[in-house]
Amino acid sequence: MSVLAAFLGYYDFKEWAAIWVPVLLFCVLIVLLVTAMRQMRPTKPQQIKPEDSPKIAWDDIAGVDEAKDELREVVDFMKDPKRFKALGATVPRGILLHGPPGTGKTLLAKAVAHESGADFFAQSAASFVETFVGVGAARIRRLFKVARKHAPSIVFIDELDAVGGRRGVGDVSGEKDQTLNQLLVELDGFNARGDVVVIAASNLLEKLDPALLRPGRFDRQVFVSPPDRAGRERILAVHTRAIPLAPSVDLDLVARQTSGLTGADLANICNEAAIGAARRHAEQVVAGDFDTALERIVAGMQARRGLNEQEKRTVAYHEAGHALCAELLPAVDRVHRISIVPRGRALGYTLNLPEEDRYLKTREELIDYMTVLLGGRAAEQLVFGSVTTGAAGDYEVVTALAAAMVDEYAMGTRVTLRRVVGGVSAEATMRLRDEEQADLADGAYRAALGLLRDHRRHLDALAAALLEQEVLERADIDRVLADLPRPVAGAGDLSVAATERSD
Ligand code: ADP
Ligand code: ZN
Repeated sequence: MSVLAAFLGYYDFKEWAAIWVPVLLFCVLIVLLVTAMRQMRPTKPQQIKPEDSPKIAWDDIAGVDEAKDELREVVDFMKDPKRFKALGATVPRGILLHGPPGTGKTLLAKAVAHESGADFFAQSAASFVETFVGVGAARIRRLFKVARKHAPSIVFIDELDAVGGRRGVGDVSGEKDQTLNQLLVELDGFNARGDVVVIAASNLLEKLDPALLRPGRFDRQVFVSPPDRAGRERILAVHTRAIPLAPSVDLDLVARQTSGLTGADLANICNEAAIGAARRHAEQVVAGDFDTALERIVAGMQARRGLNEQEKRTVAYHEAGHALCAELLPAVDRVHRISIVPRGRALGYTLNLPEEDRYLKTREELIDYMTVLLGGRAAEQLVFGSVTTGAAGDYEVVTALAAAMVDEYAMGTRVTLRRVVGGVSAEATMRLRDEEQADLADGAYRAALGLLRDHRRHLDALAAALLEQEVLERADIDRVLADLPRPVAGAGDLSVAATERSD
């Protein structure tokens, strides 16, 4: 009997378990799922609303005049889009500010919003790149939806490199690709309404996916360069507006001592100086406070990105060499601007502008151009007795030019036209070509050395002015070279001889 009862009880339990165990398991599963979802909270939609950031006006930004001019146009448009549309003008939609960190890109975007009275939406592209596939894309979609609702508005995307890198590179999950694609879709979807302007910031243009730079997307690219000496002085003035300065403080002097530093660094220096004065319980910031701040900040930074004095002197003579050769040679374009403010990979540059369009170049003109290209190296040789690796970019152009002159234009002296056109080149002809090219380059280099040696006084004056001012515009060049016997100006295409950094 008891055996039977036990058996029946066992039997009951089996039946009971068959029903309830799955139900229990299901409940546990639900609880686990909910807990897991809770932990994913961070990806919950954050609220997107216009930023009420401090009002940045044009006057708060100094030393980046080119970028400001470019963006003023956007402000004009945002203020009165109808006027522009009535004339059929295409409207700016995507503007890419690129340049080193701390040069004021965020500041510029804020100023555009403030000056045009538009709402400002800022997001760092890094925040779009989430581990969960699709989240970044959804965030972008939402950001643009809200921005459109608030139009006119400015969408500012900082650190565009974070999503804008070339697609498929170092992206295992495909998340970055999805995010970038969504961004492209949003940019394309803007069509003609155009009361939402997207401004993005990036440190390096080269790293971005070319798809981003196509027409209708970020087709306006504005380089935001580190400030030159005059620019630095104006930035210092902006950041000392609220600081009581003792008469001993010479902002021009501070600007001279901070070559290579950005607006953010300068703001930092002003702040440090004020803190130093406050620690002394002083009522005014004195020159000594700036010296202390400079020592703390500049020492570290100049080692990182600035040039030391000797390097600066070398770059100044290098660029002065290019410029002086250009001034002395009739066929070469007039020098428009010389700069030793590092820009991108170039340590300095000399910009030659044409007086009129002209495409055909004679052999003499091409040799003159080569002479200008080699003028940088020649100046280094002449002044320092040795050459640095800074002229690598110049050589590339010279080599290509010499090759083209011999092979394509048949401008060599010994490789005849028949041999060039004939195409099939015997080994002897190839050797002859190499020699011809080397002769052309050597001749140009000797010419450059000669020109600079004959006008050493002007070379020194130009280099000194460059070290002093960092950037020389046409008028400055005229002043420095006032008594230089000037040839009749020639013309040609726009050419930039840049000194490449050798890293
Ligand atoms: P970026 O976006 O290029 O990295 P920011 O715009 O964030 O640089 O600049 C950081 C800070 O540095 C600004 O808040 C401002 O105080 C200062 N600053 C940078 N550039 C300038 C400038 N051109 N004029 C005045 N202040 C500047
Ligand atoms: Zn050069």
